[in-house]
Amino acid sequence: MHFAELVSLFGELEDTSKRLEIRQKLSTFLVKVEADELPAVIYLLQGQLRPEYEGIELGVADSLARKAVALATGLPESTIQQHGSHSGDLGDTAEALWGEGRKPPSRPLRVREVYDRLTGVAEAKGEGSQEVKVGLLRDLLTSAEAKEAKYLVRLVLGRLRLGVKEMTLVDALAAAYAPEDQFKEARGAIEAAFNVTSDLGEVASSLAAHGLPALVGVRAQVGKPVRAMLAEREATLKSALDRMGGTAALEYKYDGLRLQAHVPGPSGGPVRLFSRRLENVSSQFPEILEAIPLSLGPGPAIVEGECVPVDPVTGELRPFQEISRRRGRKYDLTRFQEEVPVRLILFDVLLAPEGPTLDRSYPERRGRLEAMVKVTDRVDLAVREVVDDLGTAEAFFHRALSDGCEGVMAKSLAPGSTYRAGARGFWWIKYKREYTHELADTVDTVVVGAFRGRGRRAGRYGALLVAVYDAQAETFPTLCKVGTGFDDKTLEDLTRRLSSREQKEPPKDVVSTLVPDVWLEPSLVLELRGAELTLSPVHRAGDGLLRAGYGFALRFPRFTGRIREDKSPEEATEVKELLRLYQTQVRHAEAEAPEGPPGPHRPPRKEPGASPGGTESP
Ligand code: ATP
Repeated sequence: MHFAELVSLFGELEDTSKRLEIRQKLSTFLVKVEADELPAVIYLLQGQLRPEYEGIELGVADSLARKAVALATGLPESTIQQHGSHSGDLGDTAEALWGEGRKPPSRPLRVREVYDRLTGVAEAKGEGSQEVKVGLLRDLLTSAEAKEAKYLVRLVLGRLRLGVKEMTLVDALAAAYAPEDQFKEARGAIEAAFNVTSDLGEVASSLAAHGLPALVGVRAQVGKPVRAMLAEREATLKSALDRMGGTAALEYKYDGLRLQAHVPGPSGGPVRLFSRRLENVSSQFPEILEAIPLSLGPGPAIVEGECVPVDPVTGELRPFQEISRRRGRKYDLTRFQEEVPVRLILFDVLLAPEGPTLDRSYPERRGRLEAMVKVTDRVDLAVREVVDDLGTAEAFFHRALSDGCEGVMAKSLAPGSTYRAGARGFWWIKYKREYTHELADTVDTVVVGAFRGRGRRAGRYGALLVAVYDAQAETFPTLCKVGTGFDDKTLEDLTRRLSSREQKEPPKDVVSTLVPDVWLEPSLVLELRGAELTLSPVHRAGDGLLRAGYGFALRFPRFTGRIREDKSPEEATEVKELLRLYQTQVRHAEAEAPEGPPGPHRPPRKEPGASPGGTESP
């Protein structure tokens, strides 16, 4: 196909913003394109050279494009620059100046040739690459007509911006390749294939070459990120369970970065990690790349999970914000690996060594996942429980919060609960505690137990079990386990200081369901700060005050550095103070969510905008 034909379509698309019209023009055009040229056309229409996940950037600097235009036109660079700053668009400038002083091209440019040369421009790297890029671009422009030059310049600058969205292309392909009465099915099949491969060029090409049947049951392929299956929301756990027919699997909803890990299989190649936005983020998590083959074997496999920051010493989950310090980082990776170590917590399998799993039900996939994963320090499985009553579901939810998660994911166990790539539906329902503020005050807590340290903290306490004071019962009910905020020296001092108070049996006045490595007679008061107070079936502070079987727990606790030497254990924060703190926090959450019903847990926000794949129900 001649490039001029594509350029003429570019012009038409530029002149309209009506989606139907764009689709119409596209489908009329796409039928004419040969199957082997179709991928190039599909990518170029989106201003790209390859599917987005490959991260191939076309954008060159303005100065470089200006130089190439100057060389191709034979005009001084200063003239191009002057005209460009006047027109505001170097593409327009190229078109306007094209006639001046240059010979017309000897033969028409072809799409394939343009595509290959642009690929050359994008791929030139390292020393001398700027000259190579200028040279390639100059040659290309020299063979171009004025209109072609305009769009070539915009393409290389990364500023084509025709407004051709992926889903518009999906529509156009369906209209181009299916009879009108089969448009809907065709569209569904194309979208499904795209959601699994994330490569519309490849989908279009097999559609053109082999027709719609070629797209049915397209399989996930190692190296091509699958678009993420997404969850719907429900305002209560009860409604989530009801919607799933009364029984569901609940999993911890970890707060980190969703990662899809692609393990190549015996044929070799690197393990790749893709983000939820399908970016290749492999280089950011070297320790996960290393850990995956140890945990999953040689593959081939595609698994999905949440990458969460963990405390380097205690191994407990840390707040999500910490992982954001590693996002996009190119330098100092080793230091950040030590400071913000991460763990990949797997919750799904999209391709197993024995074969594809996307079309398997969730219980089957989870079974496969459990069978194929060897749990290590770096790779774990999402905590999960099948529930069929509200009480158990609530206990699980509160356990998730106490363990540093943001809520739970309810997952349908129905036979039809396949992995729906790119779709948001009620097969997965999220229910989470949203909060934006730290707990307004610090809490003074009494040390009642200790857990032995591992790794760097070996030989000392690694984390402490702490309690508040219940003046009425004259007991010390536990509030949380804390391992954050202590430097090595403080832990050493604390170990030395408290070891004389170690006991094998729990002290009588301590109320705890957790069993530490050593119990400690209450003596020392430490000041802690935390993200919020939650209701927990694990900790016993304020047991039953708000709900039978639940106490308060401090979420993401950390030692402020202050030992309250001036306070006796009985002067630690009291249970009734915790109740007040909790109520302030609830009022605060309600003020932020005026549209929701009152209650300790803020109702989920309404999400603007529809999901890419629409909403489905199990
Ligand atoms: P959010 O901002 O609430 O995380 P989201 O729009 O990123 O939502 P949703 O599908 O709506 O994505 O919510 C589920 C998200 O929760 C997933 O994208 C994933 O990153 C994360 N997650 C954490 N734990 C799990 C789990 N066990 N199963 C599935 N997703 C989980």
